[in-house]
Amino acid sequence: MQGAVLYGPRDVRFEERDDPKIIKPTDAVIRIAAACVCGSDLWPYRGIQPTAQPTPMGHEYCGTVQELGRAVKSIKRGQFVIGSFFASDNTCPNCQIGYQSSCQHRELVGGAQAPLLRVPLADGTLVATPDVPSEELIPSLLTLSDVMGTGWFAADAANVKPGSTVAVVGDGAVGLLGVLSAKQMGAERIIAMSRHRSRQKLACDFGATDIVTERGDEGVARIKELTNGIGADSVLECVGTQESMMQAISSTRPGGHVGYVGVPH
Ligand SMILES: [Zn+2]
Repeated sequence: MQGAVLYGPRDVRFEERDDPKIIKPTDAVIRIAAACVCGSDLWPYRGIQPTAQPTPMGHEYCGTVQELGRAVKSIKRGQFVIGSFFASDNTCPNCQIGYQSSCQHRELVGGAQAPLLRVPLADGTLVATPDVPSEELIPSLLTLSDVMGTGWFAADAANVKPGSTVAVVGDGAVGLLGVLSAKQMGAERIIAMSRHRSRQKLACDFGATDIVTERGDEGVARIKELTNGIGADSVLECVGTQESMMQAISSTRPGGHVGYVGVPH
């Protein structure tokens, strides 16, 4: 099969790779319906993070189960599944309290930008949809592989509750889905920090009530202004820079919560 492989800064090659196979009895091999590029792929792509060896790309994926190891019990061949970027058993103590990304047996899933993908710990990692979804639904389901779950986690970690005032730092996929998650959790006011018109529009579609275009100290001042000088109850940090983290902390009311999911750089 052909797949995307990162060789170094700005050097992505679409080249022949071996078809993945079942290695452990808990594995699955899935046929990819859709995969995408994550913001975190851009760090090594830009050379900010070194690439030690040619690395197959892609950790956001969904598709149809093609082959299963003999120990897999709940996942069936032919099911449409969505998986996380960390394979997890979903049974260890860390998984049991909801931190599957810290599973004691976790394995990083990679190489999804290809027709076939091996997924370890299939029972714990893959979630099957009730039916095979329509084509139109697949891009939305793909977000559940990483960015929607990450945005949801940010809102949950920031203690978003019905009636909360929420500020979201970052207007990438995770930030926008943090807005959507906060809306789903019943936040009353959602302030999205964004400078891009197309993303501002999406943020509003997803439930943002206010847009702040200022950054840094000015952004913090604007959020204080919108919250009677107090700050937001919950702030979602979805960028991962020193500046965005400081902006998030300074925008939070005394006793409020910051949920941070930006990959630190
Ligand atoms: Zn686990």
